[in-house]
Amino acid sequence: MGDCIFCKIAKGEIPSDFVYKDENVVAFKDLNPQAPVHILVIPREHFESALKVDNDSVWNKLISSAVKIAKELGLEKDGFRMVINTGEQGGQTVMHLHLHLLAGRNLGWPPG
Ligand code: AMP
Ligand code: ZN
Repeated sequence: MGDCIFCKIAKGEIPSDFVYKDENVVAFKDLNPQAPVHILVIPREHFESALKVDNDSVWNKLISSAVKIAKELGLEKDGFRMVINTGEQGGQTVMHLHLHLLAGRNLGWPPG
């Protein structure tokens, strides 16, 4: 999508701090981190939100990539959280599907 910031990041048109790239998915550090580790994992393909995903392989690739990154970062022992904000009350602000990978502090539960 022409004006989508995460599409531009996926295409390398906006400099980002990438931690992972493959043919389907890219992952980069969140600009406004909410934890010592805060990474966004996105499909290269544009989906406005979780509600628009029409193919289970998108979920497979997104979540398996996030778990792979978590393992590569050594987060297995202390744990981590994966979040997909969806819609207004879900807190979604960027309309390109993304998974937040958060770790490095006690994240607490329930969310505020
Ligand atoms: P959400 O509120 O779930 O839609 O999350 C959007 C996230 O994208 C927020 O945590 C922002 O800090 C982050 N963000 C927005 N623009 C950028 C960018 N150019 N590079 C990295 N993270 C970004
Ligand atoms: Zn997009």
